[in-house]
Amino acid sequence: MEAQSRYGKVTGEVITMLAGIVGDKNVVTGDGLENYSHDEMPMPKPFLPEVVVKPDSSSAVAEVLKLANRRRIPVTPRGGGTGLSGGAVPTCGGIVLSLERMNRILEIDKANFVATVEAGVLLSELFQAVAEHGLHYPLYPGEASAAIGGNVATNAGGMRAVKYGVTRHFVLGLEAVLPTGEIIQTGGKFVKNSTAYDLTQLLIGSEGTLAVVTRVLLRLIPPPGMMELLFIPFNSLHDAISSVPEILKRGILPVGIEFMQKDIIHMTEQYTGKEIPLHDYEAFLMIFLEGDNEDEIHRQAGEIGPICLSNGAVDVYTPASERAKRNLLEAREKFYHALKRSGMLDFADVVVPRSRIAEFVETSHRIGEEYGITVIAVGHAGDGNVHLAIMGQATDEMQKRVKELLGKICQEGVAMGGTISGEHGLGFAKKDYLHMVAGGGKMELMQRIKQAFDPNGIMNPGKIFNQG
Ligand SMILES: Cc1cc2nc3c(=O)[nH]c(=O)nc-3n(C[C@H](O)[C@H](O)[C@H](O)COP(=O)(O)OP(=O)(O)OC[C@H]3O[C@@H](n4cnc5c(N)ncnc54)[C@H](O)[C@@H]3O)c2cc1C
Repeated sequence: MEAQSRYGKVTGEVITMLAGIVGDKNVVTGDGLENYSHDEMPMPKPFLPEVVVKPDSSSAVAEVLKLANRRRIPVTPRGGGTGLSGGAVPTCGGIVLSLERMNRILEIDKANFVATVEAGVLLSELFQAVAEHGLHYPLYPGEASAAIGGNVATNAGGMRAVKYGVTRHFVLGLEAVLPTGEIIQTGGKFVKNSTAYDLTQLLIGSEGTLAVVTRVLLRLIPPPGMMELLFIPFNSLHDAISSVPEILKRGILPVGIEFMQKDIIHMTEQYTGKEIPLHDYEAFLMIFLEGDNEDEIHRQAGEIGPICLSNGAVDVYTPASERAKRNLLEAREKFYHALKRSGMLDFADVVVPRSRIAEFVETSHRIGEEYGITVIAVGHAGDGNVHLAIMGQATDEMQKRVKELLGKICQEGVAMGGTISGEHGLGFAKKDYLHMVAGGGKMELMQRIKQAFDPNGIMNPGKIFNQG
């Protein structure tokens, strides 16, 4: 465990005190700890927490944090555990603070288009609750079993970011508990805010290193009338990706534009046992369209099709039924698991200016070839967020080479005007690359912010930065 010696231990006495706060049955020790020792990133080894606690109120979270702060015990907040950077993994041991019991939808305010939810509400639960009120939360960061608190803490993005942006564009306010046990409220049910520092936006993306988010105020919108999907095969990845700036330059705004290489299509077919249409072409775009009615969808599809065909597309496939559409969407959602099952060792999350995606992907493939390591590209082409699955055998030697390779890929992304994480956060997996984008005093400034919130370094130590 990293730097564990500077931290206090979870003794029998501490466990008794934690049980006094959250109740005996909401304290996990022994065999139950394994479930909380990893998230969804490929990891060579798990990190067991010393104890897991499941508070069900902000005041209980505050009591846990006060105790941990007094005893200098690390606290790792955890939502759905679907993160891809090891953010919820307790690399320094200590307490995992799971928000899973704080899963109440507190209010759907139709007049103000605001949902107030506890941080442990899952995305799937939020979608259902707002739909029941005739409203819509348009973001979809890929995994519906993620919790809203986790989405906030990672500033999750996903497949609808081209039109709607990312989590920070839909959070109006937060309730958060500081390591001292103080409970703060930020923002509110209003659209504009120029009142001093914006603590809401500072906490978004802070990966549990500053405070525990306990409540979230989310902006809602009216639901779209219709959604359509285009699946467009190409003979080269270059042609597929190069079509994207052309589409956007014409002023067409799809909800999302995803790209993928053939290898992923085949791995997903093997993983699900279901065939994907047109599966033998080299590369694909999957484009999500929304509109109030069929005419609007047809107009967008009618403009996108010719652009892609003139850029080398072989066909423009529109699923003929709702079922065919659902099958394609489900296949897209399985990509990550299919890659993991096929031997993925790491998953890059670099974001570059949209105009440079094709160049970035080609450079990454070239670096992969230099290392003799397979690099498979998939990602959110419409917003420049490129995921690269790095494949191989999980030996110690290979892990070292993968880390070096990923460092070079990140460096190229940064040199092209991008950054090292577009949506997954740094957790412990990508923290070693932060220096590439945090020069000129930014690293020190961020560490002073960390110090101001968390002087004892108990909040999710070993994430984002190397120390607590
Ligand atoms: C198949 C698959 C597809 C995915 N697709 C996408 C995608 O398209 N876009 C995308 O952005 N992500 C994607 N992800 C990643 C993941 O779903 C997101 O990172 C998500 O936001 C994590 O939420 P979680 O609740 O699971 O968080 P966790 O994994 O539990 O935690 C993530 C981080 O947030 C912190 N945290 C959690 N809750 C709190 C809280 N209440 N207060 C303070 N800190 C907290 C943790 O300490 C940790 O640092 C995908 C994951 C999978 C498995």
